[in-house]
Amino acid sequence: MTAQDTLRPVFTDTFPETMDAGVLYVSIPYRTCSHLCCCGCGHEVITPLSPAQWSITYDGQNVSLTPSIGNWALPCRSHYWIDDGRIRWSRHYSTAEVAQNRDRDRHLLSQYTEEHRPRPLTSLRRHLRSWLR
Ligand SMILES: [Zn+2]
Repeated sequence: MTAQDTLRPVFTDTFPETMDAGVLYVSIPYRTCSHLCCCGCGHEVITPLSPAQWSITYDGQNVSLTPSIGNWALPCRSHYWIDDGRIRWSRHYSTAEVAQNRDRDRHLLSQYTEEHRPRPLTSLRRHLRSWLR
């Protein structure tokens, strides 16, 4: 597998069993995006969409995702931005920086979920659990 330079958006209700590299799957019903890690390691990366997590911008052709994708839980620990369909690689974070980010994310998420309980994501629960760990 090779690293990706770009991600092409595919709007879908549910994600396929086997995802294609170079594709950013966007599920509006589940408010979640998914893609294979852009470093080429082949791990699935799930990015829930919410005010406390990720948001997308779609210009009719390409998608941008904010904030950056930090795959701290994966062996590759890759870190990149999806910007207008292009992958912009970012630097690796130290263990301390990762811990700091996780604390901040957890705090944001707990504040958000107290107000807006999302509907159950049965098929995606496994992925969300691994992401929140
Ligand atoms: Zn990777």
